[in-house]
Amino acid sequence: MFAKTRFILTGWYLLIIMFISCIFSVGIYRLSTAELERGLRMQRYRIEIPGMPANGPFLYRQIDPQILGEIKERIIFRLIAVNGGIFLLSAFLGYFLAGRLLHPVEEMVDEQKRFIADASHEIRTPLTSMKTEIEVALRDKKMVLKDAKKLLESNLEEVNKLQEFSNYLLTLSRYQNTSLKLPMENVYVSEFLENAIQKLASITKKKKIIIQKDISNAEIEGNLLSLSELFSILLDNAIKYSQEGGKIILKSIVNRNHVIIQLKDKGIGIKASDIPYIFNRFYRADTSRAKTQIDGYGLGLSIAKSIVEIHNGKISVESIPNEGSTFTVILPLKQSQGITGHS
Ligand code: ADP
Repeated sequence: MFAKTRFILTGWYLLIIMFISCIFSVGIYRLSTAELERGLRMQRYRIEIPGMPANGPFLYRQIDPQILGEIKERIIFRLIAVNGGIFLLSAFLGYFLAGRLLHPVEEMVDEQKRFIADASHEIRTPLTSMKTEIEVALRDKKMVLKDAKKLLESNLEEVNKLQEFSNYLLTLSRYQNTSLKLPMENVYVSEFLENAIQKLASITKKKKIIIQKDISNAEIEGNLLSLSELFSILLDNAIKYSQEGGKIILKSIVNRNHVIIQLKDKGIGIKASDIPYIFNRFYRADTSRAKTQIDGYGLGLSIAKSIVEIHNGKISVESIPNEGSTFTVILPLKQSQGITGHS
């Protein structure tokens, strides 16, 4: 599809350039032949008439019109050659430029296709499982209420997964919408970090995880809800990829212009080869090192990255497999301000 569009675009470039070039060539031909004829008219031969005085009268002879015709032909030939050169050069440059112009569009369309394929795959899995269970249940003529309830419970689990997935997709599309203008307010670092800790309090407790805090507080300009969401995602991952009873360190350091927030876990870690991709949509590293299959859609970190970018910040990760990971978020401070306290 893009190869065809590239040719069409090159064709249009060529058409425009050759149209302009032909108009100029006709103009140049007209001008140069007119000037030539004028020059030649002025350069008539002056022949002295034998037996007449040296100062005249004279005989005048025109230049051979055949020579004029030859010169005109040569001009036409040269103009055609120049136009041929322009045609070849513009075809080459036009093809190259069309390729460069279409490349980002091609990448965007490919990404959209990949996104649709990945999203469809995530939707299909729970749907297939629900369909199979319902079909088996419908064929079972001796189904009792207890089995029916079990089936409904299992279906509800899948519906919850689908709902969670659609929530993720909606959140992602909201943050990746370039025209989105999040309302910004003055927020304290401790506010959104505490919000995230509170939100995940029940799973922290369930997994007996200890969160050690070392927070230097500062005020930044941001959106409290999305910043809380950002650290909920990072904290959720830190808990999810840690063993039971693991320890997580949440630390913030304030310097002249930034606040540096670090979330360190001692979980399963990330392989160096996976690190460049974990912020991509739907990317999930192989978690076979984990004792049990860990649920997820590979969307959390891409949402986290979008939130950080909206706040003009930076996110990075350092990780050693089987030793743990440290996610670092750097956010600009509201103004130059110092440390306002510890919590
Ligand atoms: P999800 O966790 O739902 O799979 P994410 O986008 O949040 O999706 O994370 C992408 C991948 O990055 C995960 O699948 C996991 O492999 C890896 N990852 C993220 N955070 C951690 C962490 N704290 N420890 C180990 N691996 C992590």
